[in-house]
Amino acid sequence: MKIHEYQAKELLAARGAAVPKGVVVSTAAEAVQAFDDFGGKPVVLKAQVHTGGRGKGELKGSGLPAGDKEGGLGGVKYLRKREDVARVAELMLKYPLVTLQTGEEGQKIQKLLVVEATTDIKREVYASMFLDREIGLPSLMVCAEGGVDIETVAHETPEKIIKEPVDPDMGLQPFQARKLAFALGFTGDQVGQAEAILFALSRLFLEKDCSLAEINPLALMSDGKVMAVDGKVDFDDNALFRHPDIAKLRDETEENPAELRAGRAGLTYISLTGTIGCLVNGAGLAMSTMDIIHHHGGSPANFLDVGGGVTAEGAIEAFRIILGDPRVKGVLVNIFGGIAKCDLVAEALVKAGREVGFRVPVVVRLEGTNVEKAREILAAAQKELPMMQTATDLTDAAKKVVAASKG
Ligand code: GDP
Ligand code: MG
Repeated sequence: MKIHEYQAKELLAARGAAVPKGVVVSTAAEAVQAFDDFGGKPVVLKAQVHTGGRGKGELKGSGLPAGDKEGGLGGVKYLRKREDVARVAELMLKYPLVTLQTGEEGQKIQKLLVVEATTDIKREVYASMFLDREIGLPSLMVCAEGGVDIETVAHETPEKIIKEPVDPDMGLQPFQARKLAFALGFTGDQVGQAEAILFALSRLFLEKDCSLAEINPLALMSDGKVMAVDGKVDFDDNALFRHPDIAKLRDETEENPAELRAGRAGLTYISLTGTIGCLVNGAGLAMSTMDIIHHHGGSPANFLDVGGGVTAEGAIEAFRIILGDPRVKGVLVNIFGGIAKCDLVAEALVKAGREVGFRVPVVVRLEGTNVEKAREILAAAQKELPMMQTATDLTDAAKKVVAASKG
């Protein structure tokens, strides 16, 4: 689960990290009010959306160039004048933000963070805590060249990135924090300030079962203060039950509605860009189903994993979600009846067909326990559900659904 920058900074601040002062607003008038409350000094307006790369992003439909171009506007803007705050806040709240991570439709901006920016940034570095799978330990990763181009630095000069493993029981040790602060080029009393931020970052990661906690930039301000200027935190969904305080931070408006709906029904749904809906049980089968669709010239619109125990309710909800996507021109049901018996799955499918109504061809391939019985059930329902086709094996199924999705 992802959270917003302002929430990440609150969690970091509660653990001792210095962060710039900021106020969250949802209208242009409130943004101007915040500007006035900060004494009419410069502010940075920051779009609160669950995506990175906001600084270089583009407001789709605004006609303005991307944020890093001359006269450009993305999801982060430094502003000095009151009237600019009003104008830019209005634009940000009107047009969706497109970044390298959002896809081309972009993300609607519902909230802005107005940050006091009385001092400039002198230097930007990078720090993150992540699970290093190579060594099987959480690691703190830092780079003295931070900011919006960290991906390029990581790609072209990976030796500039320093990793320090952190013992999950002991936490980050003072000598480690010091070593990293020096590696980041901090001197004098900046070292202690940087260490405090690194401790906050590692504590947050370990205490709250994060899968990633990132500060980019960690900034040296021109007045000598060291601050966490951006914060991105991702939590392990499987551990959320241990952290009700974190679960409360969820912002469902940032999530894909179909994925959210599926999650509530205990189904796993992943939205893709093609035309064939896939209803499968098990992630491995989902992968091979998508491969074979591609192999026969089709392209999946999504995959929906109903899991081990397929119920009629689950299948009905699954079809509602899959057929709710207007791009879907055909559905491939590929289920291996192991824990779930094929005949029960077939009954669930027929019930789903009656309830939902198949508006596009639905090709069914069932294999496994009680498959003979299942075939009889499907054959008996054929007249009632003319859009349903059965397949003898996976190749046959893929060919049929690809043909259906094109015709
Ligand atoms: P991202 O592009 O989504 O990672 O958003 P960031 O919060 O990292 O903002 C991008 C860039 O805008 C940063 O690298 C900074 O140079 C600048 N910036 C962001 N927040 C502030 C701030 O509070 N004060 C100042 N002075 N600059 C900021
Ligand atoms: Mg950033």
